[in-house]
Amino acid sequence: VPDGAENTAPGGAGYSPVQNSLMHSSQMLDGQGFGSTVPGLYSHQIPTKVPVHPSSGQYNFGGSQNVSLLSNQGSGQTLNRPPAGLISMAPLQHTSSVPQMLPPSQNSAAIPSSSSSFVPGAYPPALSNWQYGQTPMSQPTGSQTNHFAHVAGTLPTQPLSSGSTNPATSYQYTVSPGGPPLQNSYMKPGKKDKVNIRTLVQWHMFGLSYTSGYKTTTYPSPVPQNLKMGRNVGYSYPTLPPGYQNASSPGAPGMQSSPLQYQAGPQPFPQPALGTNHITGSMSGLSLQPEGLRSINLLQERNILPTTPLQAPVPNLHEEIQKLNCNPELFRCTLTNIPQTQALLNKAKLPLGLLLHPFKDLSQLPVVTSSTIVRCRSCRTYINPFVSFLDQRRWKCNLCYRVNDVPEEFMYNPVTRVYGEPHKRPEVQNATIEFMAPSEYMLRPPQPPVYLFVFDVSHNAIETGYLTTVSKTLLDNLDLLPGNTRTKIGFITFDSTIHFYSLQEGLSQPQMLIVSDIEDVFIPMPENLLVNLNENKELIQDLLRTLPQMFTKSLETQSALGPALQAAFKLMSPTGGRISVFQTQLPSVGVGSLKSREEPNQRASAKDIHLTPSTDFYKKLALDCSGQQVAVDLFLLSGQYSDLASLGCISRYSAGSVYYYQSYHHQHNPVQVEKLQKELKRYLTRKIGFEAVMRIRCTKGLSIHTFHGNFFVRSTDLLSLPNVNPDAGYAVQMSVEESLTDMPVVSFQSALLYTSSKGERRIRVHTMCLPVVTTLNDVYLGADVQAITGLLANMAVDRSVSASLSDARDALVNAVIDSLSAYRSSVLSIQQPGLMAPYSLRLFPLHVLALLKQKAFQTGTNIRLDERIFTMCQVKNQPLIFLMLMTHPNLYRVDNLTDEGALNINDRTIPQPPILQLSVEKLSRDGAYLMDAGSVMFMWVGKNCGQNFVSQVLGVPSYVSIPQNMTHLPELETAESTRTIAFISWLREQRPFFPILHIIRDESPLKSSFLQNMIEDRTESALSYYEFLLHIQQQVNK
Ligand SMILES: [Zn+2]
Repeated sequence: VPDGAENTAPGGAGYSPVQNSLMHSSQMLDGQGFGSTVPGLYSHQIPTKVPVHPSSGQYNFGGSQNVSLLSNQGSGQTLNRPPAGLISMAPLQHTSSVPQMLPPSQNSAAIPSSSSSFVPGAYPPALSNWQYGQTPMSQPTGSQTNHFAHVAGTLPTQPLSSGSTNPATSYQYTVSPGGPPLQNSYMKPGKKDKVNIRTLVQWHMFGLSYTSGYKTTTYPSPVPQNLKMGRNVGYSYPTLPPGYQNASSPGAPGMQSSPLQYQAGPQPFPQPALGTNHITGSMSGLSLQPEGLRSINLLQERNILPTTPLQAPVPNLHEEIQKLNCNPELFRCTLTNIPQTQALLNKAKLPLGLLLHPFKDLSQLPVVTSSTIVRCRSCRTYINPFVSFLDQRRWKCNLCYRVNDVPEEFMYNPVTRVYGEPHKRPEVQNATIEFMAPSEYMLRPPQPPVYLFVFDVSHNAIETGYLTTVSKTLLDNLDLLPGNTRTKIGFITFDSTIHFYSLQEGLSQPQMLIVSDIEDVFIPMPENLLVNLNENKELIQDLLRTLPQMFTKSLETQSALGPALQAAFKLMSPTGGRISVFQTQLPSVGVGSLKSREEPNQRASAKDIHLTPSTDFYKKLALDCSGQQVAVDLFLLSGQYSDLASLGCISRYSAGSVYYYQSYHHQHNPVQVEKLQKELKRYLTRKIGFEAVMRIRCTKGLSIHTFHGNFFVRSTDLLSLPNVNPDAGYAVQMSVEESLTDMPVVSFQSALLYTSSKGERRIRVHTMCLPVVTTLNDVYLGADVQAITGLLANMAVDRSVSASLSDARDALVNAVIDSLSAYRSSVLSIQQPGLMAPYSLRLFPLHVLALLKQKAFQTGTNIRLDERIFTMCQVKNQPLIFLMLMTHPNLYRVDNLTDEGALNINDRTIPQPPILQLSVEKLSRDGAYLMDAGSVMFMWVGKNCGQNFVSQVLGVPSYVSIPQNMTHLPELETAESTRTIAFISWLREQRPFFPILHIIRDESPLKSSFLQNMIEDRTESALSYYEFLLHIQQQVNK
């Protein structure tokens, strides 16, 4: 965007500066959702276009517009929010003519004292000094008020600088009529802001209030009483709260931005400004919940597993701020108290990182349609609930601390239809929000949804019967594919040759085109292979009906997967889109062919197993795909070794997903058929974003350095996601690069720019705010043991691949030893016998032991190589909640379900039995137990299980008549049956994959799988939990 564009803001010359409109969008889930809501939702009806105020004709965008503009508001307009810097402590909830004074920041000792602050009467009269405190760093006054939002974001403007070759330059593509223009890249060169951020932050930022037991604690104010003078201001314009006039500016010598310069706003204020509260310095001085401060001797306390699902810790922020914070299901940090320095982080021996589920299905999501997306001019952060408003016209970035202007459009709040309350805009009230992106965020027209299916039709593939299930599921869901009238679809099949299908309008039936030269694949009739779904639906349906039968007589056993993928890539390059490839064996001919590397006898060894790809073909092709906005999802349905370590790269680097159906066979393994059908339905119909990029920003001083998940890191911190789906999770590691001195809080923001299936460019933004602490004890207090475990699991996958599995296992154990040693030596004042852990980390050894026993990292001969690799793929790609479930399953007793404490959802009663420890000790022979391990469930029925359960729930006359391979519960007309089925269905509904249910008894061959998940018990190759604790204790006490 040329610089000049900044000056030609829409509305700049007109009288209706607010052209924003807001949509309140309710995105309902389709049964696969997670039912979470974003906090702080608003439900007002919002007009699409509203005049700002009657006197808009008096606007002057040119000079010192602010004063006259505000004067024009008349007495009817109210400033509802105190400027940032004002405390909205509990007293502010009352409308009081004498606003409560703020307690000073306890950090104020750290601020160089300044003669210009705290002097009553020093404030110039209202209005005339509105712009007091402008500094050279600020934008010149008199300039456009809404310039900055029109700078194209850095998100879409990074040049494509992948290490990949850009194939578009060497191929000639034919674009189907109506398709988007062919471009090598839609990324345009970025515009770098040269502002020196460092100079902006050398001043004190803002305080915040810690809470005590999550109740607001107000501290007596040592502020001189005379400061209250002049604070009793009117409640409406033109009188301004005097605090506005004294807003300090970055870099202003001697200025203090202490909260004391501000005072309470004239009205009850539901949202405390972040910059307003005092900081207590250390939580250790406060009476937190006693539980959280407790040290636990793990060797003595056996019952540490909560009976309800473990919740994410609540960051220790003022409750009014925390109320606005991001939902932990979307954005979570391993340490909810951020250590102030890297030295402190090093001492804690805990990993610092973020876990994200950025595109999660949400039941409600505020969507903003605005011509102006307000972002920091320096660091491009989106305005969010944790910025501070210095006054109505300026806001301070919470990531780089630059002071930015509030654009004119932003002055109007379309939710309340009130002018002059930018702080109440939905962007400042919601930590999760989605923007409809204006045209600056596009370099080409948003791509249409394009879906290409690539099917293995070798003899082996046809034998599994998968094509029947896939074709039928696709046929059933064709109308539910996300998209619009531009949606395109195409099909390729392959064995030793590649088959294309012309679906050209006017044909009476699909035409198959066979290309046998797999050395140099060319695309025959490219314009007829990807066709408009709506216009050619009959031909497409025709093809899907005949496809399963077309190859039944084929004896071709070879698999030319590599050439087929090359063809798919060529076909998709002009538009981008999604390739779904179904593969059933090791690719054997053409580029990308592979050889078996699995040696069954060596499976036991943690060393020398083949976790690394044997060829870089799939990674290179994936990077080419990524460059052309194409993602590849791999469905591997195989009974034999297929080298997933190599094949998986095609999805990993193109931001696709891997699905694995081990030993899929429609007759021999019928339970897999249902799983594939259910998961494929979810896959086909779930939300999808195209040509996406994600950037994660954090407060200056913190640094993000390692990314986990399926994507390609395009520039240092820009993740390229040709497709984004609601079921993918990501993780990043961070370090503290510069001391966070004087920063009571830090923030993190992820921004995901994508094209919706309807062809809209959208940006989904999540912002999280966390406190900074200075003591080791506080760091431990805020530890999020699930997030830590999740991040360690991701790191362990990397370590397994780059070093060895045994290395990774050692590192996991050392993480426990090191952190508990540090806690013992640096935090505990009295050395006690036993193994002491902070309450927050009481489950850490158990979770790490669970990781060691998990399929990705376990030793022993039980696990096949592809299965291990697949589990590693899941670790990298699953949202934290599912990663935890597959690591440490939930165990419930289910033969005595009651309605006590049950949930009531849509007239269904969902029992909530307590979670039990994973030990056979907890099993009773007269009970039945459900183990929920995420993608699989086991129901173990004891020998002496009550006759009632056996007949009323299992529908069989006796224990001995329970079938060997029972995988379904009959729907019986009994209360017991209804409860049990309701519970299992409810568990299944909350995840995007379909867990198979195995009903087992003592004699079942699957009993060993069930017992393998009994994390607390000893297995043939792994320690019991108690033995593990003893081992840790021994190391800690060394
Ligand atoms: Zn900034």
